[in-house]
Amino acid sequence: MRSKLVAGNWKMHGGLAANAALLSALLTEIDTLPCEVVVCPPFPYLAQAQQVLAGSALKLGAQNVSQHPAGAYTGEVSVSMLREFGCRYVLLGHSERRAIYGESDATVAAKFEAVLAEGLVPVLCVGETLADRQAGETEMVVGRQLDAVLARLGVAALGCGIVAYEPVWAIGTGQTATPEQAQLVHAFIRQRVAASDDEVAAKLRILYGGSVKADNAAALFGQPDIDGGLIGGAALVAEDFLAICRATDVSSS
Ligand code: PEP
Repeated sequence: MRSKLVAGNWKMHGGLAANAALLSALLTEIDTLPCEVVVCPPFPYLAQAQQVLAGSALKLGAQNVSQHPAGAYTGEVSVSMLREFGCRYVLLGHSERRAIYGESDATVAAKFEAVLAEGLVPVLCVGETLADRQAGETEMVVGRQLDAVLARLGVAALGCGIVAYEPVWAIGTGQTATPEQAQLVHAFIRQRVAASDDEVAAKLRILYGGSVKADNAAALFGQPDIDGGLIGGAALVAEDFLAICRATDVSSS
């Protein structure tokens, strides 16, 4: 009942020529893919992507946004600006935003509210560090990150978004969580939401992110609570990203 989604987080990579080549390669196959597909380029390339993707099934997302609607916030970008450039999805609380730029749970929750207020879809990234995992604190950390949104906005609001479970130790390291490790945390997230509302929990899409590659995607996507992926490095190579998208068709594996 939950449709699968694969989103590519390009991070701070790309350029006009490379983006054009990547997008055009994705577009040649987009109508054959078994899942919803989203690309999240850096802000300056949203206009380029909007133009190239116009009328196609390939959707556009952003990697971050301000929690403020407008004002004296140098260097920031508002949700309404993203909307004007065709964004439908916005990644929030990516571990790089939390770790490098000090985004707190409260800030991420405020951003979640701002994204919903403009009718876009927030993708809430949660995940534990290696130290958290080794200390047996995975559920505590992920639960706290989820609860920040639940406490501020309520479970119905969370259900209007998507959750991406990204163990920090798996991001960009080549060390993917095993399907079983990932499934355990996905099930925990769904149960945490179900404690407030069963129906919202059953419908909530929970993506896995962290070194997903063409050769490990099918096993991850075959888990009952994994509804697709948030892809970093492999999203920059058309063939790899397309293979990951195809792997969402778990009936064929
Ligand atoms: C990410 O940055 O969200 C990510 C999952 O990166 P990678 O796939 O490269 O681990």
